[in-house]
Amino acid sequence: MPGEDVGASIEAAATLAGAGLGSVLTALGERVNTRAEAEAVRTHYLEVLDLIRGRASPTHLSVKLTHLGLDVDPTFCAASVDALAARTALGTMLWIDMEESHYVDATLELYRRVRAKHSGVGVCLQAYLQRTPADLESVLAAGGSVRLVKGAYREPPAIAFQRKSDTNAAYLALAQRMLTSAGGDRIQVLGTHDLALVDRVREHAAAKRVPDGAWEVHMLYGIRAREQRALAASGVQVSVLISYGTHWFPWYVRRLAERPANVWFLVRSLVS
Ligand SMILES: Cc1cc2nc3c(=O)[nH]c(=O)nc-3n(C[C@H](O)[C@H](O)[C@H](O)COP(=O)(O)OP(=O)(O)OC[C@H]3O[C@@H](n4cnc5c(N)ncnc54)[C@H](O)[C@@H]3O)c2cc1C
Repeated sequence: MPGEDVGASIEAAATLAGAGLGSVLTALGERVNTRAEAEAVRTHYLEVLDLIRGRASPTHLSVKLTHLGLDVDPTFCAASVDALAARTALGTMLWIDMEESHYVDATLELYRRVRAKHSGVGVCLQAYLQRTPADLESVLAAGGSVRLVKGAYREPPAIAFQRKSDTNAAYLALAQRMLTSAGGDRIQVLGTHDLALVDRVREHAAAKRVPDGAWEVHMLYGIRAREQRALAASGVQVSVLISYGTHWFPWYVRRLAERPANVWFLVRSLVS
C-alpha cells in the first residue's frame, strides 16, 4: 500500500500514469455491520469519484458490496452502487469485487441490474468456482465487462477447484471465452500476476485478432512491479489496483495466503 489515505493512492496513481500504467483505487473494508458504516463508505467513494474526475489518465474504482452494506441492507447497497455508477465519469470504470461464494448470486443479480443502466460497470469472477463458466455466459449476455481472477477465499471442494493446476486450466478457458466478446463499450480484464497465463491469453488474442485495448491486465500495487512496467512497455494495457485505508488485516491475510514465501518474509521481518 502506498499509504492509508486516499491522497497517497492518488499520488501513486499519478506516478503509475507517468510510467504508462492505469490504476484502480479501492478502500479496504468489508462486511460492515451497520447502515451508518455503509453510508459512510458510499459518501467516501462519491467524494473519491469527484477527486479522480478529469485526470489525464483515467483512474478507476473497485468496491466490495459487503463494504457498501450488502449484509445490512441490500436495497441500500444496490442504490449506492447505482449512485456510484451514475457519478462515474466517461472512461472511468466502476468494478465490483467478488467475495466469498455465498455472495456470488447477490453480487451478480445486483451487477446485472446496474449494468442495465450504466455501461461503465464491471464485475469480478473467480476461476476456482465451478459455477463460473455459466456465470460468465450470463454476464457476457448482459453486455458486461469481467475482471477474471483465480479467487482468494477458502472454498470447499464441492464448489471450488482445490488444485492450482485445475484453477489455472479453468482460468485460461474462461479468459479465451471472454476475449470472444471483447470490444465495443466493454473491457475484459485479467486480474492476475501469473505471467505465463497472460502470455498464453496474449497469444490467443493475437491469433483471434482481438483489438488492442479490448482487454487489459490488472495487478496489485507492489506485487511484480517491475513486470507490470515491462508488460505495459511491451504493448499490453496494464492497470494497478491500489488499496488504502486502515482496515487492512483480512486483505493482508489473503495476500499472505497467496504466496507461502510472504509468510516467511513476515516472520523474518518480525524476528530481525
Ligand atoms: C486486480 C486484482 C483484483 C482482484 N480482485 C479479487 C476479487 O474481487 N475477488 C477475489 O476472490 N480475488 C481477487 N483477487 C485475488 C486473486 O483471486 C488471487 O488470489 C491473486 O491474484 C493471486 O493469484 P494470481 O492470479 O496472481 O496467480 P498465482 O498463481 O497465485 O501467482 C502467480 C505469481 O504471482 C506472484 N504473486 C501472486 N500473489 C502474490 C502475493 N500476494 N505476493 C507476492 N507475489 C505474489 C507470485 O510470484 C506467483 O508465483 C484480485 C487480484 C488482482 C490482481
